[in-house]
Amino acid sequence: MVIVMKKGAHREAVAKVIGVVEKAGLVPHVVIGEDKTIIGVIGDKTRLVDVPLVVFDGVEKVLQIAVGYKRVSREFTGGTHAVQVGGITIGDGSVVVMAGPCAVESMEQLMQSAWAVKKGGAQFLRGGAFKPRTSPYSFKGLEEAGLEMLSEARKETGLKVVTEVMDVENVDLVCKHSDMLQIGTRNMQNFHLLKAVGRTNKPVLLKRGLAATIDEWLNAAEYIAAEGNREIVLCERGIRTFETYTRNTLDLSAIVATKTLSNLPIIVDPSHGTGIRNMVKPMSLAAVAAGADGLMIEVHPNPENALSDGPQSLNPEEFDDLMRDVTKIAAFRRESLEERLQPCER
Ligand code: PEP
Ligand code: MN
Repeated sequence: MVIVMKKGAHREAVAKVIGVVEKAGLVPHVVIGEDKTIIGVIGDKTRLVDVPLVVFDGVEKVLQIAVGYKRVSREFTGGTHAVQVGGITIGDGSVVVMAGPCAVESMEQLMQSAWAVKKGGAQFLRGGAFKPRTSPYSFKGLEEAGLEMLSEARKETGLKVVTEVMDVENVDLVCKHSDMLQIGTRNMQNFHLLKAVGRTNKPVLLKRGLAATIDEWLNAAEYIAAEGNREIVLCERGIRTFETYTRNTLDLSAIVATKTLSNLPIIVDPSHGTGIRNMVKPMSLAAVAAGADGLMIEVHPNPENALSDGPQSLNPEEFDDLMRDVTKIAAFRRESLEERLQPCER
């Protein structure tokens, strides 16, 4: 961080800024120029996150505004922190696919989905047992019975299970039946829930809030990391914009942005990101080409009869077709991924 003082700033003003920097436990490096004084700040800048240096007397501007996250920052590790889920690695340059129905509806529907996504090449079965729905009258999931079905599907197919936890009181229960906890878009800033999953030893899939900036998203991840759980994977699932043709606007630039700023792997969910079945494959291919560490795809044995998100769900044949092309693009990019994702200057 660099603090640029105004031309002719008083010595007392410079001393006051230096004092604040030192009080925060950081080291100021003062350069007195002919025209202006510049103060470089070395150390953990998160300690200055709440200090409004820019309004201090004599301060002209503050460059590289302190970010509120540290453990999830790129600087902290110098590269992507790959996340292990069972024997599967997310963030090592491969493409990990999580697929399955929006919601667990019955054992039969879940098993048909599970075998279909396994056959297509997915490593994870997804499916909600607790569903956050806009209308209180919509199907909200089978809850504990749905979790038990997921456990059973995991046992039978060997797929890993990722499923959403919506509240603090269900964290232990969802941990018992899953390999990875999903924090949904509506809960991205539920700080009590973030802290609760941060105290578990389960990897966490943190979906981007539907109106969250990248900075807010990474700060949400930091809440989890700050509690001790560093096994976090981001999931871009589209954000709310003025566009209404698609359900959300899928922000593929978030892949490069988060890889520039953070050490977290990122997967992309084009199902919720677009809400439209025929957009799921093209956006999946684009996400993989742009460097995503994986995909989350909604697949239903019979999308027409799905209890939720049928219009964006692929049937098993469509999923197979998507996977064939995803595999080709994944192979193409494998070699030089890290090289191409070097942090970019802004
Ligand atoms: C989901 O993946 O089941 C889901 C509800 O997604 P989101 O939180 O992104 O809406
Ligand atoms: Mn869904």
